[in-house]
Amino acid sequence: AAAGSELPGSAALTLLESAPGAPCCPHGPALLFVKTSQGKEDGRRFYACSACRDRKDCNFFQWEDEKVSETRLAAREEYNRSHQPFFTHRQNVDRYKNFVLLPLSKRRFCQECQQLLLPAEWKKHSDHQVLCEITTAQLKSPSQLLYPLENKKTNAQYLFADRSCQFLLNLLIDLGFRRVLSVGTPRLHEMIQSKASQEEEFNVRSLLLDIDFRYSQFYTEDEFCHYNMFNHHFFGGEAVRETCRKFLCEENGERVIMVTDPPFGGLVEALASSFKKLMAMWRETEKEGDDNREMPMFWIFPYFFESRILDFFPSFSMMDYQVDYDNHALYKHGKTGRRQSPVRIFTNLTPSMIVLPEEEGYRFCTVCQRYVSSGNQHCEICNSCTSKDGRRWKHCALCKKCVKPSWFHCNNCNCCTLQKHSCEKTDTGCFVCGKAGHKRSACPSLSRS
Ligand code: SAH
Ligand code: ZN
Ligand code: ZN
Ligand code: ZN
Ligand code: ZN
Repeated sequence: AAAGSELPGSAALTLLESAPGAPCCPHGPALLFVKTSQGKEDGRRFYACSACRDRKDCNFFQWEDEKVSETRLAAREEYNRSHQPFFTHRQNVDRYKNFVLLPLSKRRFCQECQQLLLPAEWKKHSDHQVLCEITTAQLKSPSQLLYPLENKKTNAQYLFADRSCQFLLNLLIDLGFRRVLSVGTPRLHEMIQSKASQEEEFNVRSLLLDIDFRYSQFYTEDEFCHYNMFNHHFFGGEAVRETCRKFLCEENGERVIMVTDPPFGGLVEALASSFKKLMAMWRETEKEGDDNREMPMFWIFPYFFESRILDFFPSFSMMDYQVDYDNHALYKHGKTGRRQSPVRIFTNLTPSMIVLPEEEGYRFCTVCQRYVSSGNQHCEICNSCTSKDGRRWKHCALCKKCVKPSWFHCNNCNCCTLQKHSCEKTDTGCFVCGKAGHKRSACPSLSRS
């Protein structure tokens, strides 16, 4: 069983506010869960790994009231230590400095170990697949050199298509931001870094926060922090946290925005709690003028999480822009991919400021004061552009709201739903609202209007 998974019946795992002093796995403090059934706690509370939703990746488990012996604690500490990366970030930075001094003919990268190799290490990797003649251009695009960790439950590394990444960057620049806190967005970080090193007038800086330590081979301590966004854990301790805090100080009037693209399988409440801590860190640094401001943020996530995100961040709104990915068969752009991407930008910036590309069909709705997809028709009754998925939605007078084009009103269920459904008969409750009869992607409570 893993965090946030759908259990039979209306049972679910609920994340509880962890008290300080939670036990640690190699991924930092564990999260506290309880099984709930019909909204009530049902069973013993337990700690599990924050980062890995697959027991195969980290099997940490402990009952909250469990007495752990000294011997087991010592063994656990030893285990956690031995599961830290082999090289420290500092060592990786030094290795990189040596690596770039090598002539092209001696620059090798081990694909199996996902590691830059120095000549003295070649022998150890002689049985491995090795890439030779690593160019400076390759070193500047680590997200192309490293293979994406696609394993769905833990890393879920889905990289932005170039067009989407370029769009995000131009948008940030047009909005006047000069610093980007890139949380789980290595490709955006890389685009900023590589422009900064190539174009003299380019004055945007980025700090990457990611759990994927492979990136520490390519970036200095001022460019990359090893960070877990599900428990707000900085692996390098206080010094690394301080790097992040410093970056959030808006020195010289350089405004900061945070951009994050977390694994979609992740627990929204855990993410929200970490992002609030990052926002607090930003607020605590001295700010000129108004103290009620929130750190500007782009949270990139599928549209069907809209109501969950708004629960935690009521000041956010969802933009219609469809974010496309390179290595995700389903989430590619309309014409080339199998279907349209369900991934959107959630932001606390004023929607009218987020200008979406007209050449891709987006248009400005003067009533809603925001850019919408070409298919998103303004509904006169709802008085809003109601489509969430880019298709034209239709208004249901009985439900008093717009619904997906493929839905119809079921008098049994007293709501609009898929033609093919069994009226409240399925025993698996919806992950979002707990009601039976539909899955979370079809949850009627997800459209707020
Ligand atoms: N579209 C983005 C990548 C998003 S994939 C881009 O192209 O830049 C999700 C990212 O979150 C990956 O980089 C992954 O390594 C990172 N990630 C996954 N789990 C994480 C965790 N617990 N803490 C921090 N980062 C995590
Ligand atoms: Zn773990
Ligand atoms: Zn309507
Ligand atoms: Zn209806
Ligand atoms: Zn539901």
